[in-house]
Amino acid sequence: MQKHAVITGGGTGIGLAIAAALHDIGCAITIAGRRAQVLNAAAQRRGWNSQVIDVTDESSVIAGMTQAANFAGGIDIVVANAGIAEGQNIKGADLAFWRNIMATNLDGAFLTVREGLRHMPIKSWGRVVAISSIAGVRGLKGAHAYTASKHGLVGLMRGLAADHTALPVTFNAVCPGYVDTDIITRNTENIAQRSKMSKSDARDLMVNLNPHKRLITPDEVAATVAWLCGPNAGSVDGQAIEISGGPA
Ligand code: NAP
Repeated sequence: MQKHAVITGGGTGIGLAIAAALHDIGCAITIAGRRAQVLNAAAQRRGWNSQVIDVTDESSVIAGMTQAANFAGGIDIVVANAGIAEGQNIKGADLAFWRNIMATNLDGAFLTVREGLRHMPIKSWGRVVAISSIAGVRGLKGAHAYTASKHGLVGLMRGLAADHTALPVTFNAVCPGYVDTDIITRNTENIAQRSKMSKSDARDLMVNLNPHKRLITPDEVAATVAWLCGPNAGSVDGQAIEISGGPA
């Protein structure tokens, strides 16, 4: 039977590539995010469902995931991908900054996964994937809150994997290095502004942080998610899988 995948942050970047890769292996697709226009532009021409969900808002996640489940008679695959990346020096960081990162990256994933599981036939099959980061497995300079949130995602997947070992549902975190998306474009602009570097030098800074000295493509991340959701990955559970261009 056709599987139904819900991907938060599925209108852009890594999430959009994941939606396309899961579509290619035969899944029905719902992409979710805050901007209806962005979602519709991505979904309409591909025949996907789209759902406005703000993952920081519990009632929005409950209603949105219920509507997504109604679209396809349930949810088989949840990809908690929605996220934001911002940095502040710890001495200048206010609680609102910290809470904003946690609300999106960690609380948002918790709500998405919880609601997804409520609509998932976990006694017969299920896949949950969280898009963490290399910041989920090691410290990222200038990004303590982002690092904490992404470590939290790895912990969430490991804890849920431990809770569900008797069932054919898996929970894994995918941990990319620097990927060529809008987040990198925005970070490039911020670094350039803060440090008076040129945009090209600021971009090179991030390229050079990947051991293989190039940005990772969204499709490279998506291929790993498609493998995790494909027929032969049922024994991969509770893992943090790095896609980072080299060893730590
Ligand atoms: P992106 O294009 O900016 O994607 C972020 C997505 O999250 C957007 O589609 C955005 O859609 C959605 N989003 C943000 N806040 C949301 C909210 N409150 N509710 C619902 N959706 C929300 O950047 P990306 O690089 O593809 O990022 C995707 C994920 O990969 C993030 O979790 C990021 O931390 C992770 N990641 C990225 C990199 C990288 O180098 N690019 C590396 C490692 C991990 P709306 O604005 O329409 O809501």
